[in-house]
Amino acid sequence: MQLEDGRWVKVEERRTCDGGIVGVRIDITQLRQREAELRRLSSTDHLTGLENRRGFLAQMEDLQASAQRNRRLLAVLLIDIDRFKSINDTYGHAAGDEILREVSIFIAKELRGQDRACRYGGEEFAVLLPDTSLGGAYSTAERIREIIEEREFAWDDTVIRTTTSVGVAQIDERDARYEDGLCRADEALYEAKNSGRNRVRVSIRSTALAAAPTRTAAA
Ligand code: GH3
Ligand code: MG
Ligand code: MG
Repeated sequence: MQLEDGRWVKVEERRTCDGGIVGVRIDITQLRQREAELRRLSSTDHLTGLENRRGFLAQMEDLQASAQRNRRLLAVLLIDIDRFKSINDTYGHAAGDEILREVSIFIAKELRGQDRACRYGGEEFAVLLPDTSLGGAYSTAERIREIIEEREFAWDDTVIRTTTSVGVAQIDERDARYEDGLCRADEALYEAKNSGRNRVRVSIRSTALAAAPTRTAAA
């Protein structure tokens, strides 16, 4: 149990030699703190400090359930650095790591307190935007894309430039599983890559038919 001063104690009953019972309180505050730290580390990406995919998907499940219950909007972005392999090949893996760290900072800076960002995969980031329309999500995605396009990343004596492609999708009550929205964002991202990279694409689906197939289109 937790005491008023914040410490955690475990209460155990122990028998004494003369057959009596005494209550023993053991301070387990440090154990609790270590457990909380381990939980935090297991859902954090070590390179960028963002949430990792595991932590993000757990939050996404909760946010989607809450959005559906309360009939609130929820949008998702998938952001992938363009031709990142060639950055590693040209400047080295350490340069690539530094760009991943800086890109993650630029993404985080553009988000509001309630938004969630994670490192979704190697050079891919995912963002959840609660209470955000498709248009609002597009604007956020476009801002992130522009900032990274304009940024000059300093590395040794050179400057590295890079771009990102972004897929945007709205999650709504037609999505039975939280992965459905991610899947549409991924299709839109694929479109952005196929249309030449350094662009945002939005997954648009018909509002008329509940089971309408998805399609992607330029926003
Ligand atoms: P595209 O525009 O199609 O996305 O091309 P791409 O080169 O970005 O994509 P591809 O999937 O071919 O390559 C991704 C590269 O990202 C390959 C992998 O070595 C690199 N990568 C993944 N994780 C890390 C990391 O933690 N650090 C560094 N430096 N590179 C990483
Ligand atoms: Mg890439
Ligand atoms: Mg990728």
